[in-house]
Amino acid sequence: MALIICEECKKEVSDKALQCPHCGAPISSKKHDVMIRFPIWKGQMLNNMCYVYNKDTGEEIVRGKQGETVVFECTEPMNIYVVVKGSFGKPEATVYPGDRYDVGYRGFGKIYLSKVDSITGNANCDGLDISVGFFKQF
Ligand SMILES: [Zn+2]
Repeated sequence: MALIICEECKKEVSDKALQCPHCGAPISSKKHDVMIRFPIWKGQMLNNMCYVYNKDTGEEIVRGKQGETVVFECTEPMNIYVVVKGSFGKPEATVYPGDRYDVGYRGFGKIYLSKVDSITGNANCDGLDISVGFFKQF
């Protein structure tokens, strides 16, 4: 972790901070990071691990739990894909510095990546609620 100078109040701030703790200004490191929020499976208390991989190298970039938001350094466009254990699909994206993505569920446990302006509110939990009887349809 490094300390940088807040552009607004000129005080020292962690480069990992999203906001200056002194004045609340967004931190410039935002310009070279990417944030991805993992979804919550509605109706189920799953706590599966979620992963972001570099598509070109196959290396794991960062991991987190469902509902968490992860941040990783990104200084140039990067090809990534996301895996959520217990879910289908490995949605891909070319991410750019400063991008924010939300992962959501589509259909029966298939995940997708959606680019958003900012990450606010609650984690996406649009998953089909199997506790109310998915199998009744058959
Ligand atoms: Zn400040």
